[in-house]
Amino acid sequence: MTRPYNFSAGPAMLPEPVLQRAREEMLDWHGSGMCPAEMSHRGKEFMSIAERAETDLRELLGISDDYRVLFLQGGASSQFAMVPMNLLRGHTSADYINTGSWSKKAIAEARRFCTPSIAASTEDDRFSRAPVQDELKLSSDAAYVHYTPNETIEGVEFPDIPDTGDVPLVADMSSTLLSRPLDVSRFGLIYAGAQKNIGPAGLTIVILRADLIGETLPGTPAMFDYGIHAKNDSMYNTPPTYAWYLAGLVFAWLKELGGLEAMAEINRRKAAKLYAAIDDSKFYANPVELRARSWMNVPFTLADPNLDGDFLAGAKDAGLLTLKGHRSVGGMRASIYNAMPEAGVEALVDFMREFERTRG
Ligand code: PLP
Repeated sequence: MTRPYNFSAGPAMLPEPVLQRAREEMLDWHGSGMCPAEMSHRGKEFMSIAERAETDLRELLGISDDYRVLFLQGGASSQFAMVPMNLLRGHTSADYINTGSWSKKAIAEARRFCTPSIAASTEDDRFSRAPVQDELKLSSDAAYVHYTPNETIEGVEFPDIPDTGDVPLVADMSSTLLSRPLDVSRFGLIYAGAQKNIGPAGLTIVILRADLIGETLPGTPAMFDYGIHAKNDSMYNTPPTYAWYLAGLVFAWLKELGGLEAMAEINRRKAAKLYAAIDDSKFYANPVELRARSWMNVPFTLADPNLDGDFLAGAKDAGLLTLKGHRSVGGMRASIYNAMPEAGVEALVDFMREFERTRG
């Protein structure tokens, strides 16, 4: 059976070899007689799955021993609260860079705990670009600087990591982590909901510099305390075991592929093909400045929005699913995460050209 290509922004496609492997292991993982979802999280079988996943993730991203890696629940949205609860550490303010819908949500949540200072905002430009370093108004007394390297809805991605000096940089990497190599040492904390490049929804990865752990706001619940999760190796309560297992299969798949350099090369080609198809046409348009175009989420509009419904229906018939843009921006959005094969992008480009030729 050939499966259709699913361009969902998340939960998103998983690599086919990962799904095959999960199916093979579903009823009997490595002779244990158990499905990974049935294992005690403290048993030796699951412990080996958990440790392998962390080791592989560390290897893929080159994460040093100065960092803790946590496998949590609650999605990236919980991190919007956990970050200030754990990282304010006596400060009354933190800097936030506002580049789109997800930054705004992070800022709104931070307001419950402190007075976020907006270091830069591209809202007046309809979130169509990423600020350059000189635009950032960083405060020397900020507890941290928070930004969203890839805005999933607007399709805007920072081409460079902002320089925040000694102030810890915090990044919501939900829709870009593992898409290419990353210098983790530039960050105080990285978090990501898993449901794009990592695995199924329900797992949230946090990579955190160990020296930032320790001081939480009064009243911080145990489940929101990084220190408690770190001390318990992410097993303070029952972790999302099956999602953790599947993420481990994704990490192993990435390693087999040649690691993040190899993944980046494929992702670069996929994005280039899709943007070229948009730019070569007068019928499709993408509003994002060239330097900040996302490799992962490509929003585009049709010259005649009345054709949106026909485009989506035709795409579905051609085996190209979930191309409708986010309700806040309209138009289309093709999310082309790691698991989207190059052939999927080529099929989309072919469909777009044919639609333009016959309907444009
Ligand atoms: N941040 C970004 C950049 C996202 O793309 C998303 C979800 O799509 C979120 C945060 C929210 O993630 P969650 O639904 O896991 O809370």
